[in-house]
Amino acid sequence: MGDSHSRAVTLLGSYGLFAGLALLVVARPELGPGVVSACGLCLLWSDLRRDGESPIVLTFLATVVAVVLMLRSDGARPLLAAGLGGLWLLAGAQAAHRGRQFADERETLLEQMNLQDGIRDDERDLKYYRSYEETVAVDTRLRRDLSDAAKSLSGTLDGHEVQARLITILSERFPSARVSVVGGAGEDPLLLAAQRRRGPILIKDARAEAQIVPGARFASGVAIPLKVMREAAGFVKLESDAPGAFGPDEVRAADLFATMASLSLENIRLYESVHRQATHDALTQLHSHRAFQQRLQEEVLRSGRSQTPLALIMLDVDHFKRYNDQFGHQAGDQLLRTLSAILASFARPVDFAARYGGEEFALILPNFVRSEAVQLAERVRARIAEEPFVFNGAPTRATASLGVAAFPTDATTASQIVRVADERLYRAKHGGRNQVVG
Ligand code: GH3
Ligand code: MG
Ligand code: MG
Repeated sequence: MGDSHSRAVTLLGSYGLFAGLALLVVARPELGPGVVSACGLCLLWSDLRRDGESPIVLTFLATVVAVVLMLRSDGARPLLAAGLGGLWLLAGAQAAHRGRQFADERETLLEQMNLQDGIRDDERDLKYYRSYEETVAVDTRLRRDLSDAAKSLSGTLDGHEVQARLITILSERFPSARVSVVGGAGEDPLLLAAQRRRGPILIKDARAEAQIVPGARFASGVAIPLKVMREAAGFVKLESDAPGAFGPDEVRAADLFATMASLSLENIRLYESVHRQATHDALTQLHSHRAFQQRLQEEVLRSGRSQTPLALIMLDVDHFKRYNDQFGHQAGDQLLRTLSAILASFARPVDFAARYGGEEFALILPNFVRSEAVQLAERVRARIAEEPFVFNGAPTRATASLGVAAFPTDATTASQIVRVADERLYRAKHGGRNQVVG
């Protein structure tokens, strides 16, 4: 709009000026040479207005006018020729100048375009690096959280504590979600869906996905089954009242934390199993000889500090070699298991029942004086004597001899107590077996 207006002004201005000069020449032919030179003004005007066509047209028209004048008036011919020559020189110089200007402008334009391309490229690169930076920041945060979680989850040997820490970690990461760890699916539609899928499940909009989670009491949710030693061990559940609160990234992160918790629970189980193997007897599930020695030391120290009594019962199966010979080794093993269960049934939570050796057992009784321990030993003896010890459907009989010693009346160290109890057990054997000596 601005350009076409400016061009109209140029054309009107330069052609109007030219028409005026032409009319002047017709009226006053003697002014011809001067007028032809004055056409140069039109050229300069159109050049000033940066119009490409006008100078050519004006030069042509001025040439025609000059030639006509030269033909009509011989006298003015040299002057007209000089004026015309000047005009052509001016037009030529102007054209050359315009050409250079045009080339310069083209170059500037190209440079500008190149610059704009460069700016666009830089902007695109910047955008890419910004999004890359964001991704790296998210990844870095996840990694840091995972390493913190690994430290936190592996820093306890209590399964309940692992669950509590997992809830804390997930609640911090998903502040607007309700986080829970549940033992079983029950009637929960989200957990049942995860159970069916045997893997993590994401519900973006419970209303739109009502066929998967019928009767859901949340708007969006995630459930991840927990596995410990390849066995189902509950679920991690994230729920929100807003639809679309979770996406695949949230599921991935929650799944990683849940897997970490599972690994910690597996470690705890392994630790407990190794610990149990080290402290318990495989056949009878009573405490081992080593665990007994350690516990007796501790109990003696505790009783010494608290000035309280402590008693020990040692028990040995009578003629067990004969029993094995008569009923077989398997029957012997079965008897040891049954006898262990009887002994354990007499133990209070504070007591400590152990398999001392082959067919020898021990029972540590904190806060028991010797007479109380002797009474208990007598009840154990009677109970064993009346036990049918059924093997392969047939009852078998067995008895046991027991020796009792007490702290601090009989001995003041763990090894002394064991020795005294053992001596009394030996006396029970010599006294005819199936009896208690205390
Ligand atoms: P006593 O009345 O004098 O104690 O006689 P005993 O036969 O019980 O004593 P002895 O020490 O001679 O024999 C103990 C037997 O216990 C020998 C061994 O074969 C048996 N025994 C030890 N450990 C086990 C076990 O784990 N399973 C079985 N079946 N037998 C065992
Ligand atoms: Mg023995
Ligand atoms: Mg024996």
